[in-house]
Amino acid sequence: MIVHLKENISIEDAENISRDIEGKLIFNEKNKLIITSSKKNSISDIHEKFISDKHILKSDIQLASRDYIKKTRKVKINNIEIGGDTNNTLMITGPCSIESKEQIRESANLLKKLNLTTLRAGCFKPRTSPYSFQGLGVEGLKMLSEIRDEFGFNIISEVKDASHVEDVINYTDIIQIGAKAMYDHGILRETGQQNKPVLLKRGFGSNLQEFVQAAEFILSEGNDNVILCERGIRTFETKTRFTLDLCGVSFLKEYTNLPIILDTSHAMGYSYGVPDLTRACVAMGIDGLLIESHPNPKEAKSDASQQLNFKEFEEMFSSLVPICQSVNRNLI
Ligand code: PEP
Ligand code: MN
Repeated sequence: MIVHLKENISIEDAENISRDIEGKLIFNEKNKLIITSSKKNSISDIHEKFISDKHILKSDIQLASRDYIKKTRKVKINNIEIGGDTNNTLMITGPCSIESKEQIRESANLLKKLNLTTLRAGCFKPRTSPYSFQGLGVEGLKMLSEIRDEFGFNIISEVKDASHVEDVINYTDIIQIGAKAMYDHGILRETGQQNKPVLLKRGFGSNLQEFVQAAEFILSEGNDNVILCERGIRTFETKTRFTLDLCGVSFLKEYTNLPIILDTSHAMGYSYGVPDLTRACVAMGIDGLLIESHPNPKEAKSDASQQLNFKEFEEMFSSLVPICQSVNRNLI
């Protein structure tokens, strides 16, 4: 149940009600509300005078539910917007990992050439082996922010664990929470307690309910700017790296109010399949894409097999334009 409190309620009264109904209180300029478990559907009459309305939701997908907010939420990333009435499909690209100043400058020039706005590169890499490249850390974030200042891009980079949440918040415009960190409640809470957009990736072993409930952890801390990212789940199939759950994307579009971005690079795991898969995704009418591209994929320090070289990226990008038009989307 989501209980909307009257605008003039004091923080003390709001906290009292929240305690009484065992809810989670959001109390800020924009919102004054309490969210309880969906198992609760009533509230004592003694609180009635403080309440403006209440919404009973069927499951603990509550703030993210279309039954609560009908339209897709608009997320503003500095000078650009996705969701809401925008019909924008945001192309996010860049290398899996930032490796050097030279490398990221080459990526920046590709974005500039194609008029793109949002550069992504990982600095803290959640690798499956402790012996692989772990990322440049804060040094990488600094290089990214220099590029942002010079080119005016929005920057997105990943939080891997609680040790560097603040650094990533400070240096980026969108905070990415990776698939392996989807369940990290410390990260979910901390990114929920600030206002920058958060791109939450689906854990590859998580079902849709668990995925959206992870987003609820961020929303229920007060951050409205949450974007979902489907990046493939683990199935019995081994020929591709993961299985991109496009049925799940349809579910998310129908039942949640959060913008949805698709990451075809990590799903496929091999560059040969990324352009076709991306074209299929765009035809679904989605809010954005996350595609890995690298000046020289063969030499990449992480995810070498799936990154597109710039020629492949440009060819794919131009093939997306008519598909976007046919589903009434602006590729930005
Ligand atoms: C990444 O985006 O580079 C990454 C590690 O992705 P994921 O969290 O989806 O595995
Ligand atoms: Mn990667």
